[in-house]
Amino acid sequence: MEYDIRIGLEVHCELNTKSKMFCSCKNSFGDSPNENCCPVCTGLPGALPSLNKEAVKKAIKTGLALNCQINNNTYLDRKNYFYPDLPKAYQISQFYEPICQNGYLEILDNDIIKKIRIKEIHFEEDAGKLIHDRYDDLTLIDYNRCGVPLIEIVTMPDIENINQAKEFLDGIKLLLKYIGVSECKMEQGMLRCDVNVSVMEKGSETLGNRLEMKNINSFSAAIKAIEYEAKRQIEELRKGNKIISQTRKWDSINEKSVLMRDKEESADYRFFKEPDIPFIEIDDKIISEIKREIPILPFERFLTYTKKYNLSKDDAMTLIRDKEKSDFFDKCVLINNNYKIISNKIINDFAKISPEEFCRVIDFVNEGRISNSSVGKIFQEMEKNNISASDALDNLGLNQINDENYIEEIIKTVLEENEKAVEDFKNGKKNAVGFLIGQCMIKSKGKLNPQILNSMIYKIIEKGE
Ligand code: ADP
Ligand code: MG
Ligand code: ZN
Repeated sequence: MEYDIRIGLEVHCELNTKSKMFCSCKNSFGDSPNENCCPVCTGLPGALPSLNKEAVKKAIKTGLALNCQINNNTYLDRKNYFYPDLPKAYQISQFYEPICQNGYLEILDNDIIKKIRIKEIHFEEDAGKLIHDRYDDLTLIDYNRCGVPLIEIVTMPDIENINQAKEFLDGIKLLLKYIGVSECKMEQGMLRCDVNVSVMEKGSETLGNRLEMKNINSFSAAIKAIEYEAKRQIEELRKGNKIISQTRKWDSINEKSVLMRDKEESADYRFFKEPDIPFIEIDDKIISEIKREIPILPFERFLTYTKKYNLSKDDAMTLIRDKEKSDFFDKCVLINNNYKIISNKIINDFAKISPEEFCRVIDFVNEGRISNSSVGKIFQEMEKNNISASDALDNLGLNQINDENYIEEIIKTVLEENEKAVEDFKNGKKNAVGFLIGQCMIKSKGKLNPQILNSMIYKIIEKGE
């Protein structure tokens, strides 16, 4: 029996707001433990939350970039549970009316464009951090992260294989960075994901029971977890066993999943509307304002770079992963159509100079005034001294000599001084010309335009016959 795999991802992303979601404590990583805490984010009696507008805007921006509908009337819910990292014993979250719904992200799976549908994006607040490894018999708690704004991006179970999962995760990370809502530093826990995996008989319309693995903090672990789970489930089914919906924990050290609990039901959390925060009304004017702030997104760029500018996939992605370089490339191709060499030079020799001056150097190469290998040096000279392309050529003595009269003079002198080599060439020793060209270059300190020199030297030798 063959099986199809279905994967749904829930990506948790910390928003890069200055302050936390419901209080004015600093939202920052790496401060000393429990420094950024107040009665609101530690759930002291009587403390009242107030909503961070910036977080709402950033969630809307993410929704728009992911082609979602924005909910004009939304609100927050309380999700009730106890865990030592959650001093309030409830998390302010969204259950009934998520701020964004029904979007998609396009990815490329072996040259085929695939839309991964986004079910919803909702708010959450982050919890504190438990530190287990400092002492054998103690757990320490740092509440700095309590109340840091999070969005959770939930996909439909549209992802069909490992490659699509990778493309989706990489794609979403790049998009979040492009729109500036998160730094996405995985090592600081700014991006985490839950993976849901099910398998079903090949071609079946009915999804299998799914397994959820929570809070995986690296993409490579997420991919390993998916591979492991899909394989485990297929083996179970082949043995004739059934898959029951469960929540499992990914053990990244032993690289296997272990049972945490049978899957919880949402009713277990006793969701209800958060009574301390007013409803959120989002009018269309604000939505269109935020829409205008969204830059060209990575996937659109990828299509333009590979289709319109004919860049290789690797070159396109190398540029796109670095937004600054990619923005620069876009400016250059508006004024110069040597797409390949521009991308190549930006990838290998990027310098902070204007696109206009950058393109001037590219033109110098095309005109044969400088050699390709000098470009890096010229950029550095321009950047270091803040000077124009042609001044940099002067400074570096790289101005190539194209003057045919001058070149002719040098050739003639060299031919006179090397009669033997000229004789050899005429007698059929064709490589003697290489020696003569070398002599011309030595005389001109390497500045002669090699193409012109090459074509002229044959003519002059032949004329001299
Ligand atoms: P819950 O809130 O109970 O976790 P959701 O319906 O919000 O359930 O789904 C959570 C995630 O699980 C989504 O990413 C969804 O795509 C995924 N998912 C749901 N059913 C399946 C399935 N049968 N196989 C794989 N993933 C699934
Ligand atoms: Mg879930
Ligand atoms: Zn606080």
